[in-house]
Amino acid sequence: MTLRKFQATEIFDGRTLLPNHVLISDSEGTVIDLIPAEQAGESVEVMKGTLMPGFINAHCHLELSHLKDVIPPHTGLIEFLCSVVTKRGFNPAVIQEKIRLAEQEMYQNGIVGVGDIGNTADTAAVKKQSRIYWQNFTEVLSFTDEKAEASCLHFEGVVHELKKALANSPLPHRTNLVPHAPYSISPKSFEWINQATAGEVISMHNQEHPAEDHLYQTGKSEYLRLFKIFGIEQSPFPVTGKSALRSVLPYFNRNQTILLVHNTSTSEEDIAWAEQYAKENGLTLYWCLCINANRYIENKTPPIEALMKHGCRIVLGTDSYSSNWQLSIAKELQTIHNHFPLIPKETLLQWATSSSANALRWEETLGSFQKGKKPGIVLLSENWETSTRLL
Ligand SMILES: [Zn+2]
Repeated sequence: MTLRKFQATEIFDGRTLLPNHVLISDSEGTVIDLIPAEQAGESVEVMKGTLMPGFINAHCHLELSHLKDVIPPHTGLIEFLCSVVTKRGFNPAVIQEKIRLAEQEMYQNGIVGVGDIGNTADTAAVKKQSRIYWQNFTEVLSFTDEKAEASCLHFEGVVHELKKALANSPLPHRTNLVPHAPYSISPKSFEWINQATAGEVISMHNQEHPAEDHLYQTGKSEYLRLFKIFGIEQSPFPVTGKSALRSVLPYFNRNQTILLVHNTSTSEEDIAWAEQYAKENGLTLYWCLCINANRYIENKTPPIEALMKHGCRIVLGTDSYSSNWQLSIAKELQTIHNHFPLIPKETLLQWATSSSANALRWEETLGSFQKGKKPGIVLLSENWETSTRLL
């Protein structure tokens, strides 16, 4: 067996930063050992930077890769959403080519697993050949109870199509339904998704704008502009007098793991409430940060300090090319570090590896340098600037 021996300025093993260690792997990247440098013998490949397991991108929309540079930065969320729904249509060949390039970019910059949102099965051909693990979140958009059944059946069809296309892939990909957001899912549609996802990992865009809370608190909201595009004149959602998160989380009661994505307008009170609610009702919450997308769309930052204060599980995502300059978890880490320089490096790297491997149930293979795993071997440069997959 040909062995590779890697030494860098430091090695992050999924949990801790270790100086003066050497990672030994086979030629395919399966971890053989992680040992003190003085025991490593000869033929050690020495490099600058942090050697670490591959990144997990917990939130992406690969199928929107053709929207790179289409929507300008800082439009605000409502205008952004109106643009995405009206500008999605492109030549199918262009869509396929951009999906292929985005997958390649993520592979090369060290992303080994993706929680990927899709409303279509457009990404199937690329994923079938991919060396990245895919958790496909087939995203339901279903604004009204009248159309709930027809919409949910349509998206179950997409789940079926993706599952069939990926059945014989080299890696075991997963596909299931998820709700898009509190502002796009009617009560009956939420109930359908709850029944369809017992015990599964799901995700939901959450409180990306204060107007989401207004919708449930008063029924009046900037989101009415978005609904007009779909021919809906009034808010189709019940007025609960509560925040969006408090209004919709109770639809779930079947032991789901739920990734709440963005959370830029989530209050500390809602964070504390949601954690308590999940604990009492058999749900597992992960809070997914997409800070570069938040900077791109609204020029905001997510409430990271409040999430940390309440001991929340945190993971990271890039969101799609419609709202990011690149699909790189290293760049997400760099931005978080620039805005929150007091967060320890180990904590940030855990969010990008072991925490997200747990969230997406890839901890048997990905997220750490435990012996026998094949988590991808990545070199992160010293200033968070670049990341490269070595194996
Ligand atoms: Zn998203």
